Amino acid sequence: MRYDVIVIGAGIVGVSVALHLQAAGRSVILVDKVGAAGTGTSYGNAGLVERASIIPYAFPRALSEIIRYGLNRSADAHYHASFLPRIAPFLFSYWRNSSPLRLAEAARDLLPLFEASVSEHDAFLNDSPNAAALFSRRGWIKAFHNGDALAAAVSDAEALASFGLTWEAMDSNGLAQIEPYVRNMAGAIHWKDPITALDPGAVTAAYADLFILRGGSLKAADAMGLRQEGTLWRVSAGNEVVCAREAVVAAGPWSADILGRLGYRFPLAVKRGYHMHYSLEAGTTLTHPLLDATTGYVLAPMAKGVRLTTGVEIAPRDARPTPVQLDRAEAAALRIFPLGKRVDPEPWMGFRPVFADMRPAIGKISGSDGLWAAFGHGHHGFTLGPATGRLLAEMICGRKPFVNPVPYSPTRFRGQVKS
Ligand SMILES: Cc1cc2nc3c(=O)[nH]c(=O)nc-3n(C[C@H](O)[C@H](O)[C@H](O)COP(=O)(O)OP(=O)(O)OC[C@H]3O[C@@H](n4cnc5c(N)ncnc54)[C@H](O)[C@@H]3O)c2cc1C
Repeated sequence: MRYDVIVIGAGIVGVSVALHLQAAGRSVILVDKVGAAGTGTSYGNAGLVERASIIPYAFPRALSEIIRYGLNRSADAHYHASFLPRIAPFLFSYWRNSSPLRLAEAARDLLPLFEASVSEHDAFLNDSPNAAALFSRRGWIKAFHNGDALAAAVSDAEALASFGLTWEAMDSNGLAQIEPYVRNMAGAIHWKDPITALDPGAVTAAYADLFILRGGSLKAADAMGLRQEGTLWRVSAGNEVVCAREAVVAAGPWSADILGRLGYRFPLAVKRGYHMHYSLEAGTTLTHPLLDATTGYVLAPMAKGVRLTTGVEIAPRDARPTPVQLDRAEAAALRIFPLGKRVDPEPWMGFRPVFADMRPAIGKISGSDGLWAAFGHGHHGFTLGPATGRLLAEMICGRKPFVNPVPYSPTRFRGQVKS
């Protein structure tokens, strides 16, 4: 089966790349080891299309913060101590890249993708028969336990005035007006530009349905066997072999494994995270996703109930789940909102695919013809998937990219060169 492009990974990033290539007239096959779209990290996130995110999530630099995380008792971050020696080079590089100057550079580099995030989702939504109903346009709320933290957040938001974001600061009374069942909070910032998904996995699947409706195909295939023969990339999919001149690796946290088989070394790490759904107590409502910024977790109203998503866990990707943060966050959440019972039999665990410089890898991989990267979107892959799809498709098709792709080039990693 011969195509123009094989896209590997049917998460939000791979599906978005496939849709844009298809719109540009390429014949595209989307392959995923599960054989369905939106089952990986794109299934379990908090569903924010975070248009208001300007400053990336940095490694803590203040000593008090480092000590607090070092104690390993917080809800927002947890680590496996035995993993620290192995992950130390990544953490050191992340810390270095989080200096005020480098963080400002990362923010500047990422801004054009964030600015396009909602409009690029909208471009899919408008054409997808099933996706529009899966979004809310009320924005999200960042809430604080104490007035000092709220005041600091308000001055941080004011410092972003040049970015033209729409937001509103509110005290506890203002918060009660829009979320009457949230209590014990000093106040909040309501970010109004972002849109939020009621089921991010279903959104990804709906976008994949659009790709199929337009004539694309999605097949089950494990791309660990991706190989190049002559000028063609080949992957076995069941009884057949699919081949194409171009291959896009968009397998999120598993991308470096696939490329590792081909001799590439990408310094991709993961920040693990968990979620659990809760029923709503009778007569209560939650209408916006709410970040408890003091404790560090999100409560998001979703199709299955209220989804509580946790912060970051630094642990080997494939180590068994250790959802201690979920228990800590749940206890904190019960003090601010009347959560009902747990709905899922087990916590879900997912992996934010991250590079230490906080930028994704989008572009051509050197050393092999026709091999492309679209992975490493960290905390914001659901936000940036559609914009990434547009950018990479423009690059593959030789069109003028709508944003400068240089900061995302996979060639910025020394070890990326084939060993
Ligand atoms: C708790 C949590 C909350 C988050 N909240 C948000 C949020 O609110 N907003 C936001 O923008 N982002 C959020 N994120 C981040 C976001 O979910 C990810 O950045 C994004 O989903 C990554 O998408 P992806 O397509 O790169 O990877 P994935 O969705 O993981 O897709 C990768 C696909 O590759 C496939 N694959 C893997 N190996 C192979 C193989 N060998 N062969 C073939 N296929 C393979 C997998 O089956 C999978 O379908 C959150 C993440 C977590 C963990």
